[in-house]
This record gives sequence, structure tokens and C-alpha cells, in this order.
Amino acid sequence: MKISEIIKGQGKCLSFEFFPPTTPIGEDRLLRRIGRLKSFSPSFISVTQHAGVNTLDKTRHIVKKLHAETGLTVMPHITCADPRKSELEPVINYYKGLGIENVLALRGDPEEYGQDTFDGQVHFRFASDLVRFLAGYKNFCIGVAVYPEGHLDSPNLGLDTAFTKQKIDQGAEFGITQMFFENFHFYQMLDRFEQDGINIPIIAGIMPITDFQKVERFSELSGVEIPVLLTTKFEELEDPDDVVKAGIDLATEQCLDLIDNGIRCFHFYTLNRDEAVTQILNNLAPVII
Ligand code: FAD
Repeated sequence: MKISEIIKGQGKCLSFEFFPPTTPIGEDRLLRRIGRLKSFSPSFISVTQHAGVNTLDKTRHIVKKLHAETGLTVMPHITCADPRKSELEPVINYYKGLGIENVLALRGDPEEYGQDTFDGQVHFRFASDLVRFLAGYKNFCIGVAVYPEGHLDSPNLGLDTAFTKQKIDQGAEFGITQMFFENFHFYQMLDRFEQDGINIPIIAGIMPITDFQKVERFSELSGVEIPVLLTTKFEELEDPDDVVKAGIDLATEQCLDLIDNGIRCFHFYTLNRDEAVTQILNNLAPVII
């Protein structure tokens, strides 16, 4: 089912993001974890696609498997990082053939970014170019990334919003946010969007902290602010179990505040784990209707 229709029909959505495992054992483990998360009746699950040779194949392979074996709505991420248009077309036709109805269109972060062409062949420069291309197929519901604090390369929040609008004008029907740890960034982004006439559903991207150093690295790469108090709190924790527990409490509080403010769409960055997300969703169960 198309994600835009799910959100329109139910007024809420819940999703989990995974990355493609590199081994058959990893795939089996992921399937078991998704099997456990299925008890939360996710609206969809998504699979990342990272820049680099063969990653498109890995995503394509696991998308097919998850689509066939989980019975869930599976959304592949597609980036403009590597593929030339000529390489992307068969992949899109493959997804279409599987019956995939939703895709997340992203620029990605290739090392070579900044070149207008690879080997002289045309590729997509911005996610909006990819959205336009995908919209031409007329059978996908297309999602895009949005940034509560603005994308790292955006000169200012006004332009960040304008470029987001460009993606919607080209055919994007919903947005998923980058992780954020201060909800006011999310609320201010929604205000900017409203002022600029952006009215597609926005799904809040939640990152449960289970490994603080890893999240710090993500935050450096993406420009996401980690509040000083939070850094101090996590740096004081020596036992990894305490870190996981603090991460669960933090994400639970974050979601409770979002729910209090009327937000009903959540996308969990699982990092292919299920334990922390399970605990957070169990904590939220009394308030999620
Ligand atoms: P764009 O929307 O193209 O924006 C990139 C930058 O270009 C922004 O600064 C924007 O302001 C600017 N810009 C846009 N249009 C124009 C224009 N016309 N002129 C000038 N500047 C412009 N990465 C992966 O590699 N694989 C994944 O699977 C993946 N999944 C993700 C899932 C989510 C939910 C999110 C939030 C991010 C994900 N990313 C993934 C990361 C993403 O690819 C990076 O954040 C990337 O740097 C930007 O991607 P984008 O689609 O937002 O790009």
C-alpha cells in the first residue's frame, strides 16, 4: 500500500529502518529481528542504500527477500550517489516488478559529490532530480529526507526549506526527518514548512542511542546538535547496559513530547537491532492509540 494512503487513512504511521546485511547469517538474524518487531504492526520498513559499488545490488537483494518473507510493506532507499541513469532504470523496473509501491529518494553522500558527471554520463545531482525521474514512472509513492536543523550544506534554513519544496513540487508525497535530539528543531521546521506551503506528512526520525560514540560520529557527519547536557550524561556512563537504558529513556521522553504535541508518525533508525526499539514502543504503548 502507498505510504501516503496509509497516513491519510490511519492518521498515523510507524516504520523501522534497516541496512542491508553483508552475509547470509546477517540476513537470517535481521529476519528474526524484524519478525519480533512485527508485533508492533509497522506501516512499513525501509532499507538503506549506501554510496559505493555493489550497494545497489545488496539493497535490491534484501528488499526482495523482505518483501517476500515478512509480509510487510518494504520501501527501498534510492540515492543519486553512484548510479548513472542507465544503471538505475533496470533497478527501478525490478522494484516495480516486485510490486514495490514506495521509494525514498535521496542524494546520498558520495565522495565524488560535486562532479556533474561520472565518466561523462549524466547522473542526478540533487534528490529533486531523482524525484522528478521516479515520478515519471507514475507508480511509486515517493518520500524524501527532511532536516529539522537544516541540511549541513544548506546556506540557511530558508533555502533548506525552499529546496525541500522543490522536492515536493517534483512529486514527493511524504518526508522523513534526520535524527534530532531537541524537539524544538522539529517544531520550528514544521512552522517553516507551513509558512512555505509544505503540507505533505512528515515522519519524525527517532534514533535510540545504544552506542553514544557512534551517534556522536553520525552527528559530526550530519551536523545534528547533541545538547551538552546529553553529552555529559552519556559520557559519565561506563556500563554499556546503562547507555542502552539511558538511550531508551531519552527516546521514550522524546516521543512522549512529540505525541503530546500531536505527532503520530514515527520512523525508528534501528541500526538493525530490535531490543531498544521494542522497549521504547512498549513504554509508549499506553499513549499510542
Ligand atoms: P538533497 O535534497 O539533494 O539536498 C542536499 C543538499 O543540496 C542540501 O544542502 C540542499 O539544501 C542542497 N540543494 C538541494 N537542491 C538544491 C539546488 N537546486 N541548488 C542548490 N542546492 C540544493 N544516505 C545514503 O547514502 N543512503 C541512505 O539510504 C540514506 N537514507 C537516509 C534516510 C533518511 C530518512 C535521511 C534523513 C537521510 C538519509 N541519507 C541516506 C542521508 C542523505 O543522503 C544525506 O543527508 C545527503 O547529504 C542529502 O540527501 P538529500 O536527499 O536530503 O539531498
